Amino acid sequence: MKILVINCGSSSIKYELFEMDDESVIAKGLVEKIGTESAIVTYEVTGTEEKMRTAEILDHREGLHLVLRLLMDKNDGVITSEDEVAAVGHRVVHGGEHFSKSVIITSEVRQAIRKTVDLAPLHNPPNLLGIGAAEQQLPNAIHVAVFDTAFHQTMPKHAFLYALPYVLYTRHKVRRYGFHGTSHQYVSEQASLFFEKSLSDLKIISAHIGNGASVTAIENGISVDTSMGMTPLEGLMMGTRCGDIDPAIVPYVIAKEDLTLIEIQSMMNKHSGLLGVTGMSSDMREITQAMEEGNIQAKLAIDMYLYKLRKTIGSYIAAMNGVDILLFTAGVGENSSFVRQEVCDQLSFFGIEIDREKNNTRSKETREISTSNSKVKVLVVPTNEELMIAREAKHLVDHT
Ligand code: ADP
Repeated sequence: MKILVINCGSSSIKYELFEMDDESVIAKGLVEKIGTESAIVTYEVTGTEEKMRTAEILDHREGLHLVLRLLMDKNDGVITSEDEVAAVGHRVVHGGEHFSKSVIITSEVRQAIRKTVDLAPLHNPPNLLGIGAAEQQLPNAIHVAVFDTAFHQTMPKHAFLYALPYVLYTRHKVRRYGFHGTSHQYVSEQASLFFEKSLSDLKIISAHIGNGASVTAIENGISVDTSMGMTPLEGLMMGTRCGDIDPAIVPYVIAKEDLTLIEIQSMMNKHSGLLGVTGMSSDMREITQAMEEGNIQAKLAIDMYLYKLRKTIGSYIAAMNGVDILLFTAGVGENSSFVRQEVCDQLSFFGIEIDREKNNTRSKETREISTSNSKVKVLVVPTNEELMIAREAKHLVDHT
């Protein structure tokens, strides 16, 4: 069975075609700068070189149309008819309280996704555009929505509520939703497979640290707390996002700097975090290098980043009254042995001990980096949100 996974941004479509018999990727690529005369389209058949071209692509429907033409191309194609695509898995960022699991898309589902647009104004509208375009281009496929928030719908009320007037929750659904759910679920399942232990016997802390970053506490296989909140701005210090701040800073800075609400939102989302403190980059590689070269601001940003990360991990050990596995994933988590080492060294009180040699070994596989004496097992798990979305879609196809 072949499944197409698509992830639509406001001007982009990321796509990956899976053969689910062996969960292999057949082809993948990206359409960028949709809405312009010079949209960039990349297309890569597994085992061959990536091809790139520019084209006029005015909307997501045209973008997807081109993707399907590429997939069915006489020379480079991997399918002969669009009917070979049994299902399309759509990444949807915000499912609000409507969705605690992936669903087959119906008009009611589309309606419910539309209702959560207020909560994710930047993400859900392009996700809906992608769904509309794909339904038009692949009318015979089953379309499935997989939500970033769904995995966290198991959080107890005392973890997801903010200490604001309760009416804000009942009236406007102001609460913690959490994000990166597909990734946290995938990597926690990988950890359970790695140790051949049932998720129901494990307390896991999953640190998904990329440009966006969140930590999740997973007990008995379900999310019990997570650091991102009603939006992906809360929690850790990130590439360009500030994470937790005193909310009173917002009106104070608006008044002092004569900012509009839009401007301060943009400041907190796009000009803060590592970028805001260093004034130079949001990229952990560049900042680590600058620190090594003696840049004081880079060192400060990294100290702040590491401090917040280990405080959050520590708070989840408290939340679950223990932890069996600490795992690192995403761009920084999978690649920065320095970040892993620094965080874990400062968590030794909890019985977390890293093996330096194992930590410095690079691999694309799930691997253990703790010592044999470490009370808590530490893993590096490459995330694969696209595969998780494809699995979810397959599961729904198999059970309809
Ligand atoms: P996104 O949240 O956009 O999916 P990624 O998961 O791709 O982001 O993570 C991007 C981050 O990973 C960047 O800050 C990048 O610097 C960092 N990163 C990638 N490789 C390395 C590395 N070898 N060392 C340190 N950081 C790395």
